[in-house]
Amino acid sequence: MEFSYSQQSLDLQRELQGFYSEHIIPRWRDWQIAIKRNNNPHPNFVDELRTRAKDRGLWNLALPDLQDDQPGTRLSNLDYAPLAEYMGRYHGSSIVFNCQPPDVPNMIALQHDANPEQRKRWLQPLLEGTTRSAFAMTEYSVASSDATNLRTGITREGDSYIVNGHKWFITGAAHPDCEFFIVVGQTDPNANSARQHSTIVVPTATEGVTVSRELSYLGSYDSTAPVGEVHFDNVRVPAENLLGEEGDGFVSGQVRLGPARVHHCMRAIGNCEMLIELMLNRAKERATFGRTINEYDTVQNNIAMSRIEVEQARLLVQKTAWLLDQQGFRGARREVSMIKVAVAQIYHRIADRALHIFGAMGGSDDTPIATSYAWARAFRIGDGPDEVHLRQIYRMEQQPEGELADSPYILPPISAS
Ligand SMILES: Cc1cc2nc3c(=O)[nH]c(=O)nc-3n(C[C@H](O)[C@H](O)[C@H](O)COP(=O)(O)OP(=O)(O)OC[C@H]3O[C@@H](n4cnc5c(N)ncnc54)[C@H](O)[C@@H]3O)c2cc1C
Repeated sequence: MEFSYSQQSLDLQRELQGFYSEHIIPRWRDWQIAIKRNNNPHPNFVDELRTRAKDRGLWNLALPDLQDDQPGTRLSNLDYAPLAEYMGRYHGSSIVFNCQPPDVPNMIALQHDANPEQRKRWLQPLLEGTTRSAFAMTEYSVASSDATNLRTGITREGDSYIVNGHKWFITGAAHPDCEFFIVVGQTDPNANSARQHSTIVVPTATEGVTVSRELSYLGSYDSTAPVGEVHFDNVRVPAENLLGEEGDGFVSGQVRLGPARVHHCMRAIGNCEMLIELMLNRAKERATFGRTINEYDTVQNNIAMSRIEVEQARLLVQKTAWLLDQQGFRGARREVSMIKVAVAQIYHRIADRALHIFGAMGGSDDTPIATSYAWARAFRIGDGPDEVHLRQIYRMEQQPEGELADSPYILPPISAS
């Protein structure tokens, strides 16, 4: 494993932090007030910030495989990790650098699966940051953590496909600029279970597509990519909107989800750093029963455990990013599942500790903790719940050969004579 960052990454880390100090941090309170108190998730200065970031080359930092005519830095996943971590300290700020989910994973999916025509039509505007997108997999009526359950129909009819289904919890679907969905559905219910599903691009403006509501999670709304419930009723799209071949749906999903999970994890670690900083500040300022809170062992232990867990998590994520760079998503599958479980649980625990140390204030809108808590909890479910990844990890564990009784670790019984 090689964990040192390239000079390009080190330079960009310095640039990015400078950009935050100069342009984002001075506006952060205004941005949060606009979101939380004025119901305005995208104040005007966000577009201004995006233009500045693009002009300074802080754009499309999360895409290693760009072509010459595509804007971006081509950083490896490992080199991008510390940048994503920094963005994660300021929840939602990755939009300034066109590094926001679900668009980045969708760009990765299109890089992998789209033909040149489709790339021009759907990928290029995302790379330029002139449009938004969503990935529609989870369904209202079936347990969607098992993707073989998905029942949305994608049925061939002449030169078209007809899409019928009811999706929900689709990040970005309720954004007014969401121009298209990458929909996962069943093209052949009779095929082998790994080849029944495909992905197809469905423009939001197509007749029969309805975004019926915006969804919150634990009362939190996603300000940069609002989550929606979506109905596809006899939606007709040209056959050329299919990505790859019929039956490729699960492979595309994996290609997209590998880097997406690494990015989520890095941002979560950055958010944990912010939570630790807040806990430290709060604990040294508040006093009960004659002592500041930070003098109590329980508080010290909670903060110390958070530090240990964050350091562990970061190393495992770096290893995963490195494997993804070296061996692609197949080589990193086990580690991707491992970080998905480990980081989501650590994030959840640290957000819970911060919530507690802040007393009642932690659950209010005056701190970012309640939002962190909601997204940490969502992270344990979204992109596959803990149990599904644990099951995968168990299955990939090498099972030892031979009987337990033959193991050199086990002593034989003593015979009666
Ligand atoms: C904030 C948020 C954003 C999301 N964004 C998107 C998006 O952009 N696109 C999208 O398609 N989806 C999205 N999702 C949906 C998410 O990916 C699904 O909720 C998730 O995959 C679980 O599917 P489900 O909700 O149908 O739960 P189910 O599949 O019904 O599972 C419910 C529970 O059953 C248990 N369970 C399931 N399988 C096993 C098992 N093998 N072993 C033991 N227990 C098990 C687990 O406790 C699990 O939590 C989002 C979810 C949230 C909360």
